[in-house]
Amino acid sequence: MFGNHLVLVVTDSKGSRSIRVRSVFRRIFVYLVLFLLSLIVFFVMSIGAFRSEIEMIERDNMSLKKAYEKLLQKNTSLNDKINQRTEEIALVGDRVEYLEGMVGVPSDSEEYERVDYGLQDRIDNASLAGVQKAFFMRFIPNGYPMDYYRRISDFFGYRMHPILHRRHLHAGIDFSAEIGTPVYATADGVVEFARSGFNGGYGHMVKIDHSFGFKTYYAHLDRLIVKRGDFVKKGQIIAYSGNSGKSTGPHLHYEIRFLGAYIDPKNFLNWNMRTFDLIFEKEKNIPWQSLLETIKTMMDQMEQPSSLEAHE
Ligand SMILES: [Zn+2]
Repeated sequence: MFGNHLVLVVTDSKGSRSIRVRSVFRRIFVYLVLFLLSLIVFFVMSIGAFRSEIEMIERDNMSLKKAYEKLLQKNTSLNDKINQRTEEIALVGDRVEYLEGMVGVPSDSEEYERVDYGLQDRIDNASLAGVQKAFFMRFIPNGYPMDYYRRISDFFGYRMHPILHRRHLHAGIDFSAEIGTPVYATADGVVEFARSGFNGGYGHMVKIDHSFGFKTYYAHLDRLIVKRGDFVKKGQIIAYSGNSGKSTGPHLHYEIRFLGAYIDPKNFLNWNMRTFDLIFEKEKNIPWQSLLETIKTMMDQMEQPSSLEAHE
């Protein structure tokens, strides 16, 4: 049994003492020490490996951060460039719109000078029957193109251009009105033009071809009801008013043209059966006498009893 003992000898200044340890414990001790040593070695190596990995990740992180910052800078400068270009485009757009407005499309292919037919005080309309007057009121533009409007914001006439200091014609009457106000045809006719778009500043626009050389224009509309080729009756809704095209606020721009020449619509607005004769005095750019005679003759011929009427 003695051989299974380990003898530890401890020596100090007072002398030596010996301690016996069982050899089983000795073995366990040796294994424990070896295990601890290998554990320490493993930890030390692992930590070293982790540390180098962390360092690598940190380096990657740094380079990614730098790349991100570079991209951010590039993005900012690109955004600046985009903003600059957008401004440039808007500027060019303004200029184009302005030029289009100056050109005044869409107009008839030729612009005709208004002709002053002079005072037509010798107009013979006393012999006009009620039905003949009604014919006038049906086929020649008269009355208002809308029932509800705030006010007339601009009349027909020459204006001094605020920037160019050049005279330009405001060729119609502007009715300031809420977007979506119904717009009516002011006489029977056929729709010659009905198109959405900028239309040279007129915006969404309807143009009606009436009888005897008259045309009416309805501009800056919101929604069109009619299309090119539609026959319309006086008082029929053709569109809803808007603020499209070159417009500074919601309004209807209403024009009357006679043989392509601009006519002041003012006298036509309040023209009706009761005020029938007034327009012949006020509006001198229409050959009323000739028109009256033509219509009178035409209607007199229609009133002749025909074979068709005789059967009824
Ligand atoms: Zn106008």
